[in-house]
Amino acid sequence: MIIIMKQGTTHEHVDELSRHIERWNVKANPIYGEGTIVIGLVGDTGAVDKDALMLDPQVENIIKVQEPFKLANRKFHPDNSVVEIAPGVAVGGKKLVVMAGPCSVESEEQIIDVAKHVQADGAAVLRGGAWKPRSSPYSFQGLKAEGLELLHKAHEATALPVVTEITNPAHIDIFMDKCDCFQVGARNMQNFELLKELGHTNKVILLKRGLANTIKELLMSAEYIMAGGNENIILCERGIRTFETYTRNTLDLSAVTVLHELSHLPVVVDPSHATGVARYVKSMALAAAACGADGLMIEVHNDPKHAKCDGAQSLTPAQFDDVAKG
Ligand code: PEP
Ligand code: MN
Repeated sequence: MIIIMKQGTTHEHVDELSRHIERWNVKANPIYGEGTIVIGLVGDTGAVDKDALMLDPQVENIIKVQEPFKLANRKFHPDNSVVEIAPGVAVGGKKLVVMAGPCSVESEEQIIDVAKHVQADGAAVLRGGAWKPRSSPYSFQGLKAEGLELLHKAHEATALPVVTEITNPAHIDIFMDKCDCFQVGARNMQNFELLKELGHTNKVILLKRGLANTIKELLMSAEYIMAGGNENIILCERGIRTFETYTRNTLDLSAVTVLHELSHLPVVVDPSHATGVARYVKSMALAAAACGADGLMIEVHNDPKHAKCDGAQSLTPAQFDDVAKG
């Protein structure tokens, strides 16, 4: 349920009304937008007396939010959310933010070399996996804690903020001061225990859409994190599984438009995992930008042929340079 307040309602009035509402055992979430003030009600709103609330002279309207996602819902927060990964690196504003780097961190030379290249081409965030969720237990699993240290070194060498995937809630402490943004990968989009724990941190979360998950399920996963108190979420469309085999996944670009309509959270597109083929990455990156994506996540490797993970979809620094000139 959301309560739309009249223009010019004071903060004191909103606070007083919020306290009054919370007596019905729901959480009142006031949001002050540009020209709009809404109070979002989260929880079981069955007991809330709508007629009594309408008697408040400052209440313009009360609407029931049908969708199961509330905090992530644009009705709760009419303006776009801008999520700051690091000072000056804001996702959801006017500027398209490019996150780039190898699928996995392989060595100090590799990660620093790639970081410098992508930075020179305008990337604002360095990506790189330390813990890799692989389909086969015999595939390279990542450098783990050493990978985190190397990402941190690359950050020290370039000042680029770092995004890296977290797979286990028990790792949160060791990730905390080694990265600027936790990536929740497609395979963990519905790892609800992980989502709940991330909700108790204040770090930015890049939440990727699961391989076979609907847009609504993606938003419900965001809601899990937000319900814990962390509203710093960036959604990521990275392709979904369909019957098509020429590409690794099928890039659902319509998700960008639908997500922007349903939610205030910024949306990033990952054309690398979506296509699985390096030569398709550029056109899909440009298409993502054209349909309003707030950012791009692109895999770049100094030597894709010998990459330990996802070489086929990784761009060389020269190919990335070409995409960046786009
Ligand atoms: C990755 O970013 O390297 C990754 C594993 O992505 P996804 O979870 O989208 O497959
Ligand atoms: Mn990858």
